[in-house]
Amino acid sequence: MESHPVESTTPVYTLSTTCMLSGIPVHSIRQYIDKGLIIPFRKESNRNLFSQTDVLRLKYVHRLLNDDGLNIAGIRSVLALIPCWSIRKCSEAERTKCQAYNSSTFPCWEASEKGTLCKNTNCRECEVYRIVENYPDVKSFLKTIIH
Ligand code: SF4
Repeated sequence: MESHPVESTTPVYTLSTTCMLSGIPVHSIRQYIDKGLIIPFRKESNRNLFSQTDVLRLKYVHRLLNDDGLNIAGIRSVLALIPCWSIRKCSEAERTKCQAYNSSTFPCWEASEKGTLCKNTNCRECEVYRIVENYPDVKSFLKTIIH
């Protein structure tokens, strides 16, 4: 029977496997989830699953903390700089109501009040959330949109 390769975004790893693959302790991964730095895929059983791109994201966060000297609040502020309103082309009216647009201390996916575009989007699948999986850091992404 032909085997199909697993997509890099498919959540297949348990917490302990993710710990092994990333080299990041379980308690740290749990902390990153609690602080909104990573959104795991949650099964109906409430167990978290992770994908290969989640592993990359975890390593990025871990590097910011351990090599670059940021703390959790600092990382949240860095992620808050991603211009989600521009990427998703939110209207002026949507921006004024959106907590993500108006805050600089947490990433947009942590906002409790969002514009209509975001209300019906799964943040885990969103291009904004996934930027750090596709660029080595937030600044590298900003360079592609601001000249
Ligand atoms: S859908 Fe979620 S991750 Fe995407 S821009 Fe909106 S709040 Fe941010």
